[in-house]
Amino acid sequence: MARKRCFSPDKIKQKPQRKVFLGAPCDSADRHEGADDERILPVNGNIPNYRDAINLSSRSAGVFPPCWYRCSIMKTINTKSVSMYELNQVPSEAQITKYIRRILFGKNLFCPICKSRLISKYGVRYRCRRCRHKFSLLSHTWLKDCKLSLQKLWLVLWCWTTQVPIRQTIALTQLSEKAIRLWFERFRTHLPWENEVLEHIVQLDEAYFKQLTLIMGKQQGTRKLAYEILCGTNPEKIHAAHFLQQYVKPRVKLRTDGGGIYKNIHEWWPVQHQVDIHRKFEFSLTSEIEGMFGVLRTFIRRMYHHSTPEKLPEIVREFCLRFSSPETFNSPLNYLQKSLSLVPTR
Ligand SMILES: [Zn+2]
Repeated sequence: MARKRCFSPDKIKQKPQRKVFLGAPCDSADRHEGADDERILPVNGNIPNYRDAINLSSRSAGVFPPCWYRCSIMKTINTKSVSMYELNQVPSEAQITKYIRRILFGKNLFCPICKSRLISKYGVRYRCRRCRHKFSLLSHTWLKDCKLSLQKLWLVLWCWTTQVPIRQTIALTQLSEKAIRLWFERFRTHLPWENEVLEHIVQLDEAYFKQLTLIMGKQQGTRKLAYEILCGTNPEKIHAAHFLQQYVKPRVKLRTDGGGIYKNIHEWWPVQHQVDIHRKFEFSLTSEIEGMFGVLRTFIRRMYHHSTPEKLPEIVREFCLRFSSPETFNSPLNYLQKSLSLVPTR
């Protein structure tokens, strides 16, 4: 004898995973006629409704939700399928909050002003019970004015760290070009930066970008770069000498092309100067630095499509950091760990 099972309306709601809900939308006339055994089972020849579901036997496992319930399930499924936050690279809002909290506060939350651990939580905000200061997770960081949700911010940051081109980022995030360029600029601005001093063997060369000159040095065989940007396209020997004084250790082997600005440079800074004469098809001594300029131009064209002279210095800085510290760009979390810190502001 089949054992009777009693279904309460609450229990029915707890079982949305049953396949009976995944049939055709309930807008047709046969929706209560039991044409599809998986979807509908008639009860006593009557049209089943929400109350009928209470006295079902265990054999007739199908439950009869009201049509408004089935419609709401379908709507939920459809909405979820188009959400951009379903992407694997975007953690949940709660997980991102946990990451940021761990980066900024460590294990225990404390007041950014008086460092007290007597903190009360009000929704997404906090209040210090000692100095009564109110703060949120990001209110004392450079992200304090962020109007994006944490998941959207993470998605934009992921696009930037993985070099998704501007146009692709716009299409993915559905933000404006102005917003995306502004966010990428903010990410660039907060990159950590350490001045490198080049040693051993250094390759040095210059490149021209509209009204600017870029002098860049690379320590041969390593990822260490140093650069300087000059106004105008006529650099002089004094500029090359200044670059050496700032970024190149004395008594290194300096390798350049036959440019006039490097002639007798050892009289200005103690280096062993070696020269490649390009018109004689000599390129071996400066091949690494020549290659860097090619990669830089490709990076600007692919990711930013173009660059104004005003933005060039910060884009070159980003490029150099991507080359010398690629681990910073491995994931949004790595970037936030290096760039996010508490700034004591009220
Ligand atoms: Zn406090």
